Amino acid sequence: MKNEEVELINFKNVLKSVENLESPSRADIAKYLGISRTTSSQNINKLIDLQLVKESENNLIGRGRPGISLIVDKERWLALGVCFEDNMLFFSVVNLAGEIKEKKRVDLNSTNFNTFFQELCSNLRYFLNKFEKDLLPAIGIGSPGVIEPKTGAIIKAVDLGWYNIPLKKMLEDEFKLPVYINNRYRTMGLAEARQGLGKNYDNFIYLGVGNGFGTAIFLEGKLVLTTNIHTGGIGHIVVEPDGPYCRCGKKGCLFTVASLSVFEENTIKLLEEKHKKSILDNCKKVDMKTIMDAANKGDELARKSVIKVANPLCTVIGDLINIINPQRIIIGGPMGIYGDFYCDYISKKIANYYNTTEISIVQTQTDFFGGAVGAAYQVLDNKLELVLNKIE
Ligand SMILES: [Zn+2]
Repeated sequence: MKNEEVELINFKNVLKSVENLESPSRADIAKYLGISRTTSSQNINKLIDLQLVKESENNLIGRGRPGISLIVDKERWLALGVCFEDNMLFFSVVNLAGEIKEKKRVDLNSTNFNTFFQELCSNLRYFLNKFEKDLLPAIGIGSPGVIEPKTGAIIKAVDLGWYNIPLKKMLEDEFKLPVYINNRYRTMGLAEARQGLGKNYDNFIYLGVGNGFGTAIFLEGKLVLTTNIHTGGIGHIVVEPDGPYCRCGKKGCLFTVASLSVFEENTIKLLEEKHKKSILDNCKKVDMKTIMDAANKGDELARKSVIKVANPLCTVIGDLINIINPQRIIIGGPMGIYGDFYCDYISKKIANYYNTTEISIVQTQTDFFGGAVGAAYQVLDNKLELVLNKIE
């Protein structure tokens, strides 16, 4: 390993210690990392010059030895993240603690890729200009579809009809900045891991349910990213061997019986059949959100429809528990965000079925902006290199 690489690793570890230890002094960091006080001090001084770390105003007096406590300078630098979900672009500008400083939602009138790309670029340009001096020079993206981890290309986003789009390269060419990209449900999971319901769990799964299914699997505190594009693609696990054909060629995939569009179709069919009075009878637009709202309020027909799509998902969650044994599963994506009854039903069914109290199944508390915050975390994870680049 080259000297500069070793230096950078040391430098990163010192920054991490400031983040992880509670207001440590230079001496605490030296002790924690097993490095000399001189190395610790030199690195801290460089981090202070880069405005990533600052000396705390409440200076601690260590046991018998004065030590100035250090904290992350969380407001100096900002990171930009974007997430695309359900015809909407969500932009978040966050500080180093991942707290949102500015956000914006842009509604698109089409899911045509060119429309998406134009709106994405014009809004990115707005944020890059507005926060020019303070932004870490990079862009974080939560994209639909299966993303090739090395190239950052969208291999396929079937529900949108997008195939083989080199999104990362296109954005890097356009803005001359590094672009970090992941599937949107993975960036939502990242936000849960850093500041949400996954924060205190090393092994957990974020399960995004919408028109497709996506997962962010965290093992030993790390998001599992393999080059196998099917990792975490639970939508094509067969749950009904004699079920309807799926566009992947198999029969009875989870996608064909439990996705958002199937949920809407099932409900409309139930409403057309003879049924007891339902809140949805007078509803102008029967869509996922209105059905979930009705189910949350106790509507019998809506609940029947929720249970029909929740049951096959429970089967797959059972498989995930058998294979991965996570400490927690967070149900998110549009169906999770709006589906209070849906998540509660799944949680109770799994608890009964698996007779387990060790695995908690919970409803996400992160909305779509969370996907943009998670996208920005991809930038924050590289803050040291980015600040070094920016001030060079
Ligand atoms: Zn399939």
